[in-house]
Amino acid sequence: MHICTVCQREQAVYYHRFSGDYLCAKCLKKRLVKYIKKAFKKYGLAGPRVGEIVLLIPQHHAQIAPALIELVDAAERGHATTLHLLIPQNTPNNILKDLKLSLNIGVVKHYTIEQSYYFDVQVRILRHVAVKESTANTIIMPIMLEEGLLCLLSALARAKPAYIDCLKPKIEVADKVFLNPFLDVSLEDVYAYARAKKRLLRIERHAYFLEDLLLAIFEDRGPELRYSYRRVAFQLLDALKARLENLVSKCHRCGGLEIGYVEGGICRVCQRLKVDSNAKIF
Ligand SMILES: [Zn+2]
Ligand SMILES: [Zn+2]
Repeated sequence: MHICTVCQREQAVYYHRFSGDYLCAKCLKKRLVKYIKKAFKKYGLAGPRVGEIVLLIPQHHAQIAPALIELVDAAERGHATTLHLLIPQNTPNNILKDLKLSLNIGVVKHYTIEQSYYFDVQVRILRHVAVKESTANTIIMPIMLEEGLLCLLSALARAKPAYIDCLKPKIEVADKVFLNPFLDVSLEDVYAYARAKKRLLRIERHAYFLEDLLLAIFEDRGPELRYSYRRVAFQLLDALKARLENLVSKCHRCGGLEIGYVEGGICRVCQRLKVDSNAKIF
């Protein structure tokens, strides 16, 4: 049994490998909120964070939805914002009621979405849906440190390098802006927090293509690896833009990049969503 290294009072619930600290639930939350707040500054996301913000919980994060909501709420304290939610249909109602009692939550909207086995495609579909359904212009969509690698692997495996863009901290499309202040947050830490608070929901989720590799890649390795792969990813994105400048265009529906001719300025993922009558989104 360890005592929390930070507050020196509470019992530790988690060994935080990044820092070598043993943390209690409270200090773990504080640390996660600090990463989120820092990212707003580091990636220039500060923008118009007054008024309304929508937190979009990706379907694959339904299990940790309460933890994510709590963390964003804590990070937004002190900003004059109302937090609305766009969450997967299968998030249990009693959990939401609970959260509404303790947090300042505005409108809650549910969505169901077509599942893709490719992470980069799924993120694009989510943005497409959120642009249509969001009740505010600023949307926070959490994609975490390890998931950036999944995005990279997925896009490259499908020979769609432009789709790496789903790990960008900020994406603008139409009158909406997607912010991702979770870019430096480790998925492992958020799961630990959800577990510590007994708020890890038992909701089934499908695995993405190559997702099982992540554990093998990151296990028993230091945090440097998680940050360094991303530098490569961002450089790759810059190189693509520099090299193929005239060939890269941005989708009007999801804000994603596409190389080569795209019909009506809409990417291939969004085109399919529009054409396929079975792709019922809500
Ligand atoms: Zn503590
Ligand atoms: Zn698109």
